Amino acid sequence: MERERELERERERERGLERERMSRERFLELLDKRLDQGAKEYGERSFERPERELLEELQLECLDLAGWGYILWERIERVKNKTAVTLRCDVCGLTPTEAAGRGGCDPKRGSTHCWSARRRA
Ligand SMILES: [Zn+2]
Repeated sequence: MERERELERERERERGLERERMSRERFLELLDKRLDQGAKEYGERSFERPERELLEELQLECLDLAGWGYILWERIERVKNKTAVTLRCDVCGLTPTEAAGRGGCDPKRGSTHCWSARRRA
């Protein structure tokens, strides 16, 4: 049993390494395409640009990355808020946590909690 779990962990680790290797290959493939595209557009000029200009270009790219990072963060935040759901009882309106502390539905009336997921308002 312990041996089986150990083997499964080893297989999972190997799958993780394989996914990472494939992702790295994809990254390098895309980088190669970008470099080819740049060579077509600018020829050798990129290698001859003054270092001062390259530094300024890099600074602008840093600002772009930070800006896109913020935009992505904001969009993820919106998706998280849209997909966040709260379980509430259809009868008494309590969440499971609230119901655990306060009871909720009246058993004398035969009603028991019936939970359904609701999107966060
Ligand atoms: Zn209830």
